[in-house]
Amino acid sequence: MMGVVAVILILNLPENELRISFLNIGQGDSIYIRTPDDYSIIIDGGPSSKILEELSEVMPLYNRTVDLILITHPHADHVNGLVEVIKRYDVKGIMIVGTPSYNYFYQKILELIKEKNIPLYFAKADNDFLIGKFVELDVLWPIEFKVGVPYENLNNASLAVKINYGDHSILLSGDAEIEEEQELIKSGFDLSADILKVGHHGSRTASSINFLDKVNPKTAVIQSGIDNSFGHPHKETLRKLIKRGIEIRRNDLEGRIDFKLSLYQPPVFEVFAQASHTRDQ
Ligand SMILES: [Zn+2]
Repeated sequence: MMGVVAVILILNLPENELRISFLNIGQGDSIYIRTPDDYSIIIDGGPSSKILEELSEVMPLYNRTVDLILITHPHADHVNGLVEVIKRYDVKGIMIVGTPSYNYFYQKILELIKEKNIPLYFAKADNDFLIGKFVELDVLWPIEFKVGVPYENLNNASLAVKINYGDHSILLSGDAEIEEEQELIKSGFDLSADILKVGHHGSRTASSINFLDKVNPKTAVIQSGIDNSFGHPHKETLRKLIKRGIEIRRNDLEGRIDFKLSLYQPPVFEVFAQASHTRDQ
């Protein structure tokens, strides 16, 4: 019998490349990261199942596994899309701050975590993660556990992380506003990063001058939807970024924004490998 020869092309990423995609999901945040050794991380899911279309474009077809989902805070424009992701993908872990919220979709996510027995991690600054061999997820905020601690302004309960890959880093702080930025500065952590996801969709209640100076990014990404009713990004924020010579990338103007970061300093691998508890000695 003349069978059909199915040639499955496993499209490996070029070696040592970290991909980060700021997904085109309308007004909200959703970021997909693929490590050089094929681990997938999602930070927030945007306001709807639009994330599924985006994931089908940035994730390889054969891959139905998401190794870690970070939920910065339980607002609709960050969590709602995640329900369908958790239903459809094999999710290996979820990290939250643990601030209470009655958002229906957030509650649904907590139910799914139980139902599917997904490991749940509560964020804390000194509990960092090594994702595969190369990528470090450095939790910056909360500095202490905030599990069960209510926040009047949930934006300031946003999980903030720095993704380190060799000499590259990306700072993501959800919708953190100036109050949380001040706490981050006070913490004394190294906030410097090549890429900054601008806090709170470019609102003027975030991106204080002190914070921008500490991060000192080359590129700033603003996740906001076309003609959103909030007026994001705010002119004042744009002006601050322009004044500092920071390249501005915007989902509302460009759609999905993809970065590929290559590593130029191989010795850094060793440092990360040492930090691993599971893989390398
Ligand atoms: Zn938001």
